Amino acid sequence: MDTTIARNIETVQANIKQAADKAGRNPEDILLLAVSKTIDPDRIQLAVDCGLTELGENKVQEIMDKYDKLQGIKWHLIGHLQTNKVKYIIDKVCLIHSVDSLKLAKEISRHAVKKNLTMDILIEVNVASEESKFGVSMEEVEPLVREISKLPNVCLKGLMTVAPYVENAELNRPVFQKMKQLFVDINGKSIDNITMDTLSMGMTGDYGVAIEEGATIVRVGTGIFGERVYL
Ligand SMILES: *Cc1c(COP(=O)(O)O)cnc(C)c1O
Repeated sequence: MDTTIARNIETVQANIKQAADKAGRNPEDILLLAVSKTIDPDRIQLAVDCGLTELGENKVQEIMDKYDKLQGIKWHLIGHLQTNKVKYIIDKVCLIHSVDSLKLAKEISRHAVKKNLTMDILIEVNVASEESKFGVSMEEVEPLVREISKLPNVCLKGLMTVAPYVENAELNRPVFQKMKQLFVDINGKSIDNITMDTLSMGMTGDYGVAIEEGATIVRVGTGIFGERVYL
């Protein structure tokens, strides 16, 4: 049997512990979200068997395809969400990381009301204002938080970012520091109905640094499943 995935997970978990220790944090306060995009259910199951039951996908269609093939999973949507696709995942995911407009938040709220559930969401922030990335700018976050706080059946849990791709993770430390600061600032404003406790940041290349700077969810794909093959 192929034990690569199991060994990879052990390595990632050891790294998480090390980064948490360095920052004086409890490793149990950090969720390792296994990013399973492009990975077949059979291989994903190997990670699930190691105890990773929270999975992140960046496409609605992939969650739909895998939903019935894997049991006992908490699915997270981590990629861009079009308003017309909210209806497909509203009762399938536990957290939407990628809310980047009031229009989208309103659509999530509308469908959540219809289904009589409360949807947890994060606002995606494009810290480095990269053209190629989704997410709102740092300045747009607070006004968006205030509007979202008025919507029924959505619970804003925190912020998410996809940091730039870098060879040296240290280069992303300022990005993670800005996210943490923004998070603390907004929590300090005591906006009605808002208590944020979730910071989703850090991927295979930089999750250690992200944890040192306060990440509570790290999204790791390659570090667990190996290089992705796009067909
Ligand atoms: C693919 C993806 C990840 C995981 O990336 P790796 O570098 O493979 O760990 C994390 N977050 C998002 C939003 C992604 O699309």
